Amino acid sequence: MEKGKQTRRPHVLVFPYPTQGHINPMLQFAKCLTRELLSVTFVTSTFVTQSLRNTSSAKPLLLQSIRFETISDGFDNGRSRKDSIAFYLEKFKITGQVALTELIARLVAEGYPVNCIVYDPLLPWIADVSENLEIPSAAFFTQSCAVFALYFRYHEGSLSICDEKAETMEVPGLPMLGLQDIPSFLAPSNPYPAHLDLLLSQFSNLDKAQYLFVNSFYELEEEAIVSLMGRWPIKTIGPMVPSAFTDTMDPSDRSFGLSLWEEEECLVWLDTKPIGSVVYVSFGSLVGLDETTMSEIAWGLLQNQKPFLWVVRPPGVPQGYMGNELPVGFVDEVKGRGLVVEWCPQLEVLSHQSVGCFVTHCGWNSTLEGLSLGVPLVAIPQWTDQLTNAKYVEDVWRVGLRARVNDMGFVSRGELERCIREIMDGDRGVEIKKNAAKWKILAMMAREISGTSHRNIEDFVGELLHT
Ligand code: UDP
Repeated sequence: MEKGKQTRRPHVLVFPYPTQGHINPMLQFAKCLTRELLSVTFVTSTFVTQSLRNTSSAKPLLLQSIRFETISDGFDNGRSRKDSIAFYLEKFKITGQVALTELIARLVAEGYPVNCIVYDPLLPWIADVSENLEIPSAAFFTQSCAVFALYFRYHEGSLSICDEKAETMEVPGLPMLGLQDIPSFLAPSNPYPAHLDLLLSQFSNLDKAQYLFVNSFYELEEEAIVSLMGRWPIKTIGPMVPSAFTDTMDPSDRSFGLSLWEEEECLVWLDTKPIGSVVYVSFGSLVGLDETTMSEIAWGLLQNQKPFLWVVRPPGVPQGYMGNELPVGFVDEVKGRGLVVEWCPQLEVLSHQSVGCFVTHCGWNSTLEGLSLGVPLVAIPQWTDQLTNAKYVEDVWRVGLRARVNDMGFVSRGELERCIREIMDGDRGVEIKKNAAKWKILAMMAREISGTSHRNIEDFVGELLHT
């Protein structure tokens, strides 16, 4: 080693938006960096840290080498549903800027200076803190490149959606889209303007970031990526799914590792079911389904006659989270045909041989996880980017079917049954299963040594090691 050259490992601070769907991929990225022998500090809010638990399905060794730090978002006892998103974000920004600056000063005082901050662009103020402290930053998008493109085009003014009746929309690098395919916050009748502001705020100071990562892979979204290249130097680093499922480097890394809910045992139950026979149903960590939808799904699953595993999160746990309630009388009717749990080890479930299809809200992680594990999807998107993901699932990657919403505004039990039947027993299912198997291989290849995503991660690590 030359005299005066740095001997300390580069230290990266990773800071996600504090929800499960953002923590998972960014924690996985943190694990990748520790595998590359970088030092990593992972930052979450006080409330989320108190609620997080180690998942039971696996204890990734890589997690042990990550340092965890907590800062206040101003809501240490959880956010009440009465606190608007705008109020939450403003308070988080004010509290977070000070807390993050203090944290970094403490790390420096402990001989642990930060070489790069990997931040969630839903918290754009982190890039300002980085700039003030002269620390390079990397924005990490937890949605797809297509969704990035849609919000960006809207932000720059080249995509205007002012007509409820607009039949199709042309966006560079994307397939023809209808109103039902664009993120719900971009629709003219969007009832959540503060959420749209949040999504658009990602671009407010994105030019300050030295790196721009997206949890996707090149082969999956080549056209969308190419369409953005001139403006944004996107580097795909996904799918950020624990390495046991994407390559052979670390078979013990079978779960993200931290979860806001206690995982319930369901693998033993799955073991008792025939190969490819089980319908797995989950709507992720945030969606609250209305009574009608819950009822149609419940009776649709029973009517379907196939064994099912359904994740139904109870409302209000942790505090402030929307949950879902089963229709009255449903549990008595299940009679061993299905298993309802509050939370499960989703990756273990999706990779179980008895699972034949995944009924999903098409959150970006769930979509990528289903695709990476080769499981055909039934898409029932609810809001935000889920609509665009569902469009790609059905029409671009052709790994599933999108359940149609009826004239009364919901997906009926008959429609759910039709989609499951077509996928699991019908002719269309044959092609869908073939495509799912193809994408599983491509996803794995992207993460393998010299795969497109792996190379992007290596380049980033290489630059940090040589500066
Ligand atoms: N998940 C899980 N167990 C469950 C349901 C979901 O571990 O029972 C995980 C899932 O693997 C994914 C995340 O929770 O990584 C949900 O993220 P997604 O983007 O799909 O949806 P969101 O919760 O953000 O709507």
